[in-house]
Amino acid sequence: MSDLRKTSVQELLRSTDLDREVLVKGWVRTRRGNKYVQFIAVNDGSGFNSIQVVANAEQFPEEQLKADGVENGAAIAVRGRLVASQGKGQSVEIQAEEITVYGSADPTTYPLQKKGHSLEFLREIAHLRPRTNTFGAVLRIRHAMSFAIHKYFNDHGYFYIHTPIITGSDAEGAGQMFRVTTLSDTKPPLSEAGEVDYTADFFGKATNLTVSGQLEGEVAAMALGKVYTFGPTFRAENSNTARHLAEFWMIEPEVAFHDLQDNMDLAEDFLRSLVRYALEHCPDDLQFLNDQYDKELLSRLQFVVDNEFKRLTYTEAVEILKSAKQKFEFPVDWGTDLQSEHERYLVEKHFRKPVILTNYPKDIKAFYMKLDEDGRTVQAMDVLFPGIGEIIGGSAREDSMQKLTQRMQEMHVPEEDLWWYLDTRRYGSAPHAGFGLGFERLILFITGMANIRDVIPFPRFPKSAEF
Ligand code: ATP
Ligand code: MN
Repeated sequence: MSDLRKTSVQELLRSTDLDREVLVKGWVRTRRGNKYVQFIAVNDGSGFNSIQVVANAEQFPEEQLKADGVENGAAIAVRGRLVASQGKGQSVEIQAEEITVYGSADPTTYPLQKKGHSLEFLREIAHLRPRTNTFGAVLRIRHAMSFAIHKYFNDHGYFYIHTPIITGSDAEGAGQMFRVTTLSDTKPPLSEAGEVDYTADFFGKATNLTVSGQLEGEVAAMALGKVYTFGPTFRAENSNTARHLAEFWMIEPEVAFHDLQDNMDLAEDFLRSLVRYALEHCPDDLQFLNDQYDKELLSRLQFVVDNEFKRLTYTEAVEILKSAKQKFEFPVDWGTDLQSEHERYLVEKHFRKPVILTNYPKDIKAFYMKLDEDGRTVQAMDVLFPGIGEIIGGSAREDSMQKLTQRMQEMHVPEEDLWWYLDTRRYGSAPHAGFGLGFERLILFITGMANIRDVIPFPRFPKSAEF
């Protein structure tokens, strides 16, 4: 086989150059047939569809294939002729001439059976679930979206900034943090007050995993103008929901001289471009997910591409929610944070399209958001999506040193830790704005999957860090 170059399954399926010798390598998805002929579906991950290998029983008796371990899950190489397919469902197939087994799979113990498995069960075998149609599709879409995000920003003149994952501040304003330490578990050095002495720790101070790259992103925006981050973030929030992970990826653009309006325009154009990219570049995977899980997926994606988002203030939204006929579990009152049920009512029932809510009460938002003239609200914006709720949270940032430090004092954010952040306001401060898009929430929307644990290869959530 060595003189022949391997071709990917996707390339072969697209090929019109038939009746030639080909070599393909991949994993057996199914093997079926009878005593005359065996059909082996081979998938190498290059795309959704497998290629059918036809093995004539004279050369490849079923008993021999079984003995060689050519079973569901085995890794094999097939050399043969690429020919027009006689059967339905594919245009080409391979007539096997030689089959090599790299690694067999014992069908009596292999956890993935031909019959479908529940998503809950697949979560328990997260190391094998990439081999299923569903997770192959999700992971290819995840890749396509990562690429599309970098492409969008690169095409629009943004610079990718790598912000730190270990942070020395515990006041990034976005949630509970995970401590990072190399101190002894059993006998950490103690201060006179009996508390753990982090001056003796690796970094000479207490450190945590970041909850957001925003503050460092702002620093970069004050020099490079248009920047974005795309990295892992960590939140030790004990929210066992279908929308929260303890480790997730976030995209955070930050733009000098942007106001709230510009920020909304960017968020909307960005999201609609990403959905359009998915429709154009992932048709097979999306079609499968549409057929298998959610018959309205493709039309919902197309709807987002074709329609503008509804923009209104938090105050207007509260009025709508108060006069809604629907009973909510949590009451709505001006000044309280909106729950997911409220967000989804606005998006799914009232406006029936994505919504951008702005100008939230200052007390339910982070210290760095720009104060409105009235002194009661801030220039925040949340983008709410059907089936998801909040997909983006962002704001114009407070660029006045005086107002920013006053907010920090009111909200008990220690200024010492953030002296470097405050320097951006002290020297050459400029209006700027940005937002955070939760990558897995985007993938939830694009794939139509229902649980965020099913759109990341190895989910991290309370009581779960296997794999
Ligand atoms: P939520 O209210 O849904 O918990 P948040 O207000 O805490 O979100 P932000 O701090 O504004 O969220 O973070 C920006 C974006 O990051 C959110 O809009 C969401 O898309 C995503 N996000 C936030 N927390 C999580 C999480 N635990 N898991 C996955 N994505 C998250
Ligand atoms: Mn949160």
